[in-house]
Amino acid sequence: MRLLLVEDDRMIGESLRAALRLEGHAVDWVRDATAADATLASERFDLVLLDLGLPASGAAGAPADPAGGLTVLRAARARQDATPFIVLTARDGPGDKVTGLDAGADDYLVKPFELDELGARIRAVMRRGAGRAEPALSFGGVTLDPATRQVTKDGAAVLLSAREFAVLEALMQRPGALLSRAQLEDRLYGWGEEIESNAVSVYIHQLRRKLGPQFIQNVRGVGYFVGTKPGASA
Ligand code: CA
Repeated sequence: MRLLLVEDDRMIGESLRAALRLEGHAVDWVRDATAADATLASERFDLVLLDLGLPASGAAGAPADPAGGLTVLRAARARQDATPFIVLTARDGPGDKVTGLDAGADDYLVKPFELDELGARIRAVMRRGAGRAEPALSFGGVTLDPATRQVTKDGAAVLLSAREFAVLEALMQRPGALLSRAQLEDRLYGWGEEIESNAVSVYIHQLRRKLGPQFIQNVRGVGYFVGTKPGASA
């Protein structure tokens, strides 16, 4: 998935970004409310992790506004941006949770938290967003479990690299939806990460080798899909 991390604390930001990348997510990171607004207004993400106490701008010495994250969230919702948000904060008063949720957050996590819990909440929010009650994705004899990161084909385990898994997860979230090479690259790479040319083709080739040549279809020059009928991806 492509995640936007909004966090002004360098140590927390670096460790979260590293941990989420290890899980195969593409992570972009901004550190102030102005940068978060501009990024969200111009780019699309699968999910936003939002710190509440944020400086308004990236100017040196700009003080953190305890409600800076809420202004980002409210502005996104005012633009009709429905991207799921998980609020991350050190504040734990019950009033803060209510304010965050009422401002449009999908979930709330109080620092310090376990990375395992963050991963589980990300999966739960994405599942609800997709209207799925069932945690695993299944299609055509292939089952992918985002929680355990296990993939099976006709009941037999299939071993995938983190990036092969990310490509397969993107395609299986909406069978029949056509994803372009650029959309898949977005799911694989954050800003500043060098995109290996041909990487998507290589991952698709590996997935077809492991799951069968027909499982992932392509429309030449347009993109890839699983299923029988390609449709435009929203
Ligand atoms: Ca902060």
